Formats: sequence, structure tokens, C-alpha cells
Amino acid sequence: MEMNEHKRRQSLIVYAIIGIALGITLRTLLYPNIVNAQVETVSYSKFLSMVDSGEVEQVELTTGESQIKFTTGEGSDTKVYKTTQFPNDVTLVERLEKNDVDFSAKIPDSSGELWLYLLINLMPLIIFFGGGWLLNRKLRKQMGDDNNMSFGGGFGLGGGLGRSGAKEVKGEETGVTFRDVAGQDEAKESLAEIVGFLKNPDRYADIGAKLPHGALLVGPPGTGKTLLAKAVAGEAGVPFFSISGSEFVEMFVGRGAAKVRDLFKQANEKAPCIVFIDEIDAVGKKRDAGLSTNDEREQTLNQLLSEMDGFDNHKGIVVLAATNRPDSLDQALLRPGRFDRRIPVELPDLAGREAILKLHANDVKMEGAVDFSAIARQTPGASGADLANMINEAALRAVRMGRRRVTQTDILESVDVVIAGEKKKSTVLSEHEKEVVSYHETGHAIVAAVQDGKSPVSKITIVPRTSGALGFTMQTESEERYLTTREEYKQEIAVLCGGRAAEELIFGQMTSGAANDIERATKIARAMVTQLGMSDRFGMMALGETQNRYLGGGAALTCSEGTAQQIDAEVQALVEEGHQTALKTLRDNRFKLHEIAHYLQKKETITGEEFMNILTRDDGFAPQMPKAQ
Ligand code: ADP
Ligand code: MG
Ligand code: ZN
Repeated sequence: MEMNEHKRRQSLIVYAIIGIALGITLRTLLYPNIVNAQVETVSYSKFLSMVDSGEVEQVELTTGESQIKFTTGEGSDTKVYKTTQFPNDVTLVERLEKNDVDFSAKIPDSSGELWLYLLINLMPLIIFFGGGWLLNRKLRKQMGDDNNMSFGGGFGLGGGLGRSGAKEVKGEETGVTFRDVAGQDEAKESLAEIVGFLKNPDRYADIGAKLPHGALLVGPPGTGKTLLAKAVAGEAGVPFFSISGSEFVEMFVGRGAAKVRDLFKQANEKAPCIVFIDEIDAVGKKRDAGLSTNDEREQTLNQLLSEMDGFDNHKGIVVLAATNRPDSLDQALLRPGRFDRRIPVELPDLAGREAILKLHANDVKMEGAVDFSAIARQTPGASGADLANMINEAALRAVRMGRRRVTQTDILESVDVVIAGEKKKSTVLSEHEKEVVSYHETGHAIVAAVQDGKSPVSKITIVPRTSGALGFTMQTESEERYLTTREEYKQEIAVLCGGRAAEELIFGQMTSGAANDIERATKIARAMVTQLGMSDRFGMMALGETQNRYLGGGAALTCSEGTAQQIDAEVQALVEEGHQTALKTLRDNRFKLHEIAHYLQKKETITGEEFMNILTRDDGFAPQMPKAQ
């Protein structure tokens, strides 16, 4: 995709250059100086005296031009002149006004061969668009028509300049219903009303109820926003027009607005229907007050706003939009009558994950009973798309292994693949490195298990992954957590510090293996201080504004520089506290640390059960385990 986009742009530039060059050559060959044929050039002082004597009728002032075009006489007596280079004359406008010269009007083109003039001047454009169209067609053929959205924007007259390229799929044909969306019950509930409205707009109109023109689906990537929008169309049995915000961005000035206009025109003809604007943040970003405005995006946005205000809702057009950066949207989009309804589409919880896994597992042939709940427990934070991907990876794995059915092992293996990447065979660790990684991972696991409230470990492995990880410790959540206490955050930080702490304790050295742990621990500590009001120093003071909540962004600081320094000190203290906790926990349990690390080094992958069996074996070294487990 990336590559094709790139090639297309390159070829377009080539087309444009060839087109323009051809046009210019043709023009000079066919009719040298066609435009200037009747234009007489006079000196600037002559021009001024002509103005003063009242001869001059119209003057064309073009900023950036070093010459001035003007006319004398009226009707058939009109003569066109051009001045020589003129000085920067600030008195000119005043002078023109005094002599009653019309200087805002255009010079009438007296050329008798207007058509030729037009043809020759339009030649580059025609070649450009024609070429673009041909290219477009070729690309579409190459890509297969299913993907026409990326190219449907079209560059050609032939492709229909101003056609929105919004693909229309008959509602019945989206083939998606609410049954295809697992979990997300609240979102479905909010959307059910829209479905009802689309099915029977008159009933709402009779009573005088106004339905929202638009609803905004907000949530992290891969949670099913696009899927839900399609399901609404499918449920209501209405056509579904979709377009993605990012398509507007690449367009020529004015094309985006034309596309929006056309999109709504089509929708108006096919109402009741759904208009879906994916990634609306690409067009709907806050308009900045500064000078550096993006005209194209702004025009498109303005057109969108006016269309949303303008359409007649009795017909039953509902505009749905999706974004994962709601805070970056222009306020104007969120006003009543526009996207005034906001439907959160959050990451699935434990039950949601299980439901999504089951739903997608329906599409593949499974071997025997699979414990989906166990898999759901191992995948906190996974999106619907991640989970769908896991099932597919499992199916691929089964095929690779020459089996006809997917097993639980396939799925468990693919969980690792989706979370940490494929196993990387080319990375061969030395025995010493293996030992270091074993201690590192065991360090994480022991700190996690020994602390109160920490989810037990489900798996530890030291098989290198394509993601760059040399090993990982997978934690399972025994139950869904909606609130996290300060203690729990502190424990999380300690667990993240556990890897490095083990290395320090056993080898007296530090390795690069802890980089990712450090980053994550710091992020948690920073959020505790700046966003969650969990530091003694600042208490409940907001020190930053959340950025891109759904994309895992932190906070942009909204405090003075002095405070920023104090924040850093607080963050450092929190991480250090976790580090000390980890060191102490591991020191207290160093016999278990040795035993488990060596076992792991030998086996390379061990389950949570094996880990817990060794850790809790009553040999006089077993830690005091918290009851909460
Ligand atoms: P978004 O638009 O929020 O980024 P999508 O709707 O494109 O996410 O989801 C991508 C894919 O992930 C879907 O096609 C579907 O296969 C799967 N998926 C995501 N969420 C769900 C869900 N709640 N139920 C079933 N499948 C889901
Ligand atoms: Mg999407
Ligand atoms: Zn680590």
C-alpha cells in the first residue's frame, strides 16, 4: 500500500511535468505570443499620464506582478496595454480613485481567437487529468477494485471530478449486524435508537422528535468502531456510504470540499442511509488561530459543517464518524446539531474479550473444547482487532503444522505472537545471556507474585521474539479491574523494576534488557504525579492535560518550569521506591530466584503453574504469600 501510494504520486508528478511541458511547447509552436498580440507595452510614466488624462478605463492590479495591464476605450474601441516594469508606487491607488478608474474589474479578453487561446492554455490540464485518469484506472486494475477507496479520490476528469469516491454499499450488503459485534453492549444500545430511526424516520417526524444528525464513535484503534457503523447500516437495511478522513488530506485545494458536497448529494438521493466518516480527526482537527493554516483541510471541514447543518433530517440521513483522538477535534464539529452524540467504544473487558474470541472462533474449525475464558484472562488490554488477529494466527499456525483443526495450544501460541511477535530463530543467545535473561524474567515474576494484589504469572519464556524482546513474563488478571489504587500502581512499578533488580543482585551489572521496563515504569510514575493526584508533593493538582487518551498518550505539562523540575524529582522518587521494593523482595527470596531462573534457563518456557509450584514449595524458603491470590 505504502509503496503504491508513493509510486502513484511519483507518476502523477511525471504526468504533470510532461503535460505542462507539452502544453507550453504546443502553444509557442502554434501561435507565438497569441495573448500579447494585441497588447501594446507603454512606459509607466506614459501610463500615469494616460490615467490623469482620463483615457484609462480599467486597470488590472495583480499582486506579485511587475507589470500592470490596463485598457482604454469602451466596447469595440477597447485597447489593451501593458506597462513596463513599474516602481513601488504607493500613490497609485489614490490616483486611480481620483480619476474614477475601475481597477477592480477584469480586462475583457478581446481576442477573436478565444477558443484557441483557451484550448492551448488548457492543454496541460487536459493532459494532466487525462493521464491521471488513465493511471488511476491502471492502478485500480492492479489493486483489484475492492480497494478503490485509496484511489477512488481520482485525479481525472474521466473519473468524475468532484465525485466523492465514497463507496456505496447497499445496507444489506455490508452484511454486518450487531451480532457480528461482540461486547460493546452500551455502544450497541446507543446505536439501536439510530437504527430505529433509520428504519422508520416518519414515526419520529410525526411526534416531532429530532434525532441527532450525527454520532461520534470514539475509542482506541481496533475496538470495532468501523464494524459498529457498518452494523448500524446492516441492521437498518439502509445504504452505507463511507469515506475516510485521511483521503481528504491528500487532495488538491477545493477537491475535498467538492467531495463532501457530492457525498451528501448521493446520500440525499439514497436516504434513508448512513454516511460514515472514518478517521474524522484528519479533517476535523482544531483550526489553528495562527497564520499557518491548511486551507484545504479547513475548506473541507467548513463544507462538512455546512452540509451537516443543511440536510433535511426528515429523510433519515445519519452521519456517523469515528476517531481515536476526540480531544483534537474542532469544537465546531461537536456543537448541537452536528456530532453532538458521543458513543464511547472502549477496549473490551474480560467478558467482552471472551465473547470476541468465541465469535471469531466460530469462523474456524476448532479441536475439542477450548477454554476461551483462560485466554481472555491472559489478554488484558487487547483490542477486538488484536483478538480477531489471534484467532487467525492460530488458524495459520494449525495449517503450518499440517493440521485440520485449531487447538487451544495454537491459540495460546498466537497470543504470544500478537503480544510479543513471532519467535525469532536467528537470535541465538549465548548461555550467559540466557542466564541473564532467565534471572531478569524470574525477577519480574517473583516480585509480581509475592506482592499483594498482583496478578499471578501465567507464563515465563526466554525465547527471543521478532519484537526485539529476549523474553517475557505474561501476567494474568484474575478479575477485571476498573479502579486502580495507588498501592497497585506502586506494585506495578516494582514488578517492572524486578528484571533489572535481579540482574543487579545476581550479576552486579546492568544490561540494556531493562530499557522497555524502565520506560513503562516511568510512564506510570509520571501519570501518578501529573494526572492521578497520587503524589504527596502535589496532591490533587492537575499538572498536565491528557493527550490522545486512546492512543496511550501521556499528559502535556501545564505548569511552570520550576514545577516541572519538582515533578521529575517526584517521578524519580516513585520509580526508585519501586526499585528498592524489588531489590528487597528478591533479596528475601534469592533461593527461589536461583532455583526458578535455572529451571527456566533449562526449559526456556515455563507455565504459571510450574512457577508457582516451585515458588510456594514448602522447603523453608517459600515466601509469605498474600491471601488475596
Ligand atoms: P476500529 O474502527 O475501531 O479501529 P474496526 O472496526 O476496524 O476497529 O475493527 C477491526 C476488526 O477487529 C474488525 O473487522 C473485527 O474483525 C475485529 N473486531 C474489533 N472489535 C470487535 C468486536 N467488538 N467484536 C467482533 N470483532 C471485533
Ligand atoms: Mg476503523
Ligand atoms: Zn523486563
